[in-house]
Amino acid sequence: MHQMTLAEIARGFAHKKFSSEELTKVLLARITQLDPQINSFISITEELALKQAKAADARRANGENGVLLGAPIAHKDLFCTRGIRTSSASKMLDNFKAPYDATVVAKLAAAGTVTLGKTNMDEFAMGSASDSSWYGAVKNPWNLEYVPGGSSGGSAAAVAARLLPAATATDTGGSIRQPAAFTNVTGLKPTYGRVSRWGIIAYASSLDQAGAVARTAEDCAILLQGMAGFDPNDSTSIDEPVPDYTASLNASLQGLRIGVPKEYFGAGLDPRIADLIQNSIKELQKLGAVVKEISLPNILHAIPAYYVIAPAEASSNLSRFDGVRFGHRCEDPNNLEDLYKRSRGEGFGAEVQRRIMVGAYALSAGYYDAYYLKAQKIRRLVKNDFMTAFNEVDIILGPTTPNPAWKFGAKNNDPVAAYLEDVYTITANLAGLPGLSMPAGFVEGLPVGVQLLAPYFQEGRLLNVAHQYQSHTDWHVRIPQGF
Ligand code: GLN
Repeated sequence: MHQMTLAEIARGFAHKKFSSEELTKVLLARITQLDPQINSFISITEELALKQAKAADARRANGENGVLLGAPIAHKDLFCTRGIRTSSASKMLDNFKAPYDATVVAKLAAAGTVTLGKTNMDEFAMGSASDSSWYGAVKNPWNLEYVPGGSSGGSAAAVAARLLPAATATDTGGSIRQPAAFTNVTGLKPTYGRVSRWGIIAYASSLDQAGAVARTAEDCAILLQGMAGFDPNDSTSIDEPVPDYTASLNASLQGLRIGVPKEYFGAGLDPRIADLIQNSIKELQKLGAVVKEISLPNILHAIPAYYVIAPAEASSNLSRFDGVRFGHRCEDPNNLEDLYKRSRGEGFGAEVQRRIMVGAYALSAGYYDAYYLKAQKIRRLVKNDFMTAFNEVDIILGPTTPNPAWKFGAKNNDPVAAYLEDVYTITANLAGLPGLSMPAGFVEGLPVGVQLLAPYFQEGRLLNVAHQYQSHTDWHVRIPQGF
């Protein structure tokens, strides 16, 4: 039962093969049995899950048949969930029970999903390895000595290990696509503004976007359908109609113009990954796509720009965690300043503190123009590169990451080494574009992802191409040993 996708589960419910309660019990037992190996959950919400499953079964008995009705999922632990710990994987929020549901959580609950728990992640979504969590690192189910990617490593690892079919996640610079690539699942980061950010603990507000992690593009389409749409509570939410994402999955790829950026294949890309990407291109050509070389000349400047903008916004967003209004408070403070200093010093981990300092520095008087403003200008150039490219092609294809997952500890003494691994993913966030990563093969037993990028609001095109690819390949159905 645990092998089924959301689409298969919906068919199973419709044919009365099993109930949501039965399925929920099977998955909860699997999580209890197997998750200690990978640590993909921060909280398991058994009571809530069983209550929601019974309610979904009752709604089905009354004739309702929504595709998400009774579907078991989990939420990354930065989506506010009413009455349930919402920690963002930080000691700072270990004691925080959200007083309300994030819009995404509320929408999916209304569609009838069953929340099995909250997934582990990098602290405040800062990282690429899910090893900075206050609750311990998430392990990669393909090899427990390797990182699962991050920051949404818990959502990705849980889906890869067949603990559940799909989960929500967020992507500020690659946090959906990169862990999807490292764990052999499919991850979709929608257009900025497509999914409400209301009730998501902010990292970098102009880059953050919620999306889906699942095993197939079809399931990402199903989950996105339940999440997307205008929300008056989020001032950056965009009032665009939400198309039927599953309806376009089977459109033909005949004549689809794929752009392959020449800058993606320079030094720094593992040649074995380059080969796998070429194979995926050939596969899509067989389906009728035509390939064109394109150029994204400003990609080189994207990492420095991102690592100014993201920390700058983070330093501002995280100022609210002061031990007074929210979060961890130190014992016996001497005075107000001592309270702030020690509460924040004790509550935040090393990487979060580093980014707050970098961000505060970049925003400070005298440095603002040199760093923040300059980074914003680069951001515009990156966006312009994409706009030019999309005049000529329908979709852009390349590797999701330059290297496969690394061993725990390999980058501990060098944060910049980890930042460099984000080279292919962060440009979509700087420009606000939708992106998807899907399984494309293995290097020494570790999964590799191919990334697709599309123009604004063309999530349907990404899902269509990925679904066609997955209908003709079997990388995405491979299961890590022991799971
Ligand atoms: N690795 C990137 C960072 O640490 C992206 C994280 C994310 O998308 N949340 O900022």
